[in-house]
Amino acid sequence: MNTPSLPICPKCRQTDQIQKVTSAYGLNTKEWYETRTSTDSDGNSHSYQERHEAHTQLGLRLKPPQKPASPTHPGLWYAVGGLVVFALASVLCPIAFVPLSFILPLLGGSAFIPDIAGMPAWVITLFVVGLPTLCFILLGLGLLVWLGSKVKKRFDSDMKKYRDKKAVFERDELPRWQRAKERWEQMYFCMRDETVFIPAENKAIKADDMEKYLYDPQFRS
Ligand SMILES: [Zn+2]
Repeated sequence: MNTPSLPICPKCRQTDQIQKVTSAYGLNTKEWYETRTSTDSDGNSHSYQERHEAHTQLGLRLKPPQKPASPTHPGLWYAVGGLVVFALASVLCPIAFVPLSFILPLLGGSAFIPDIAGMPAWVITLFVVGLPTLCFILLGLGLLVWLGSKVKKRFDSDMKKYRDKKAVFERDELPRWQRAKERWEQMYFCMRDETVFIPAENKAIKADDMEKYLYDPQFRS
């Protein structure tokens, strides 16, 4: 069977102005590399390649459908948050230890406190300093455990949302884009009427409505 090399435009019924959209897009898109030179502080010059892409008006109208962005794993945000907390803690904790540097000399001084009611000074010191410290440590630990469980709960619900989003992305959004991209690859453009069409569907669509038609084969412009 001998198939014609170019399909007939559904609007003007001719083939002379037909171009495949992929090649029309390629012809109307220019990609080039520019060599740039920079000079560093030692006076050495370095050159690097910079990528540029430019479209003509037509190239922009015939652009392929953009690949949708995949949802971000929440672990990334928690890692960033953890880093911030760690940085803050490493600044704030030394500050928290400053009062201790005032208390410690007092501890040494307590050796000179006379025994009260027959109790040696170190027992008193233990009660006066040790008990509150223990309390604070226990309170701090409790707070950490409580915070940890809150963060864990939040993380679990974020993970669930992420998995749901990812499932939707993989089940709907990505295949939807893949289908649109495949349709784009089968598409032709008629320069006379500025319409695009897929030969098997034989529907003339305005070039400006191309993307809508790629995603929705029922679309009519
Ligand atoms: Zn035509």
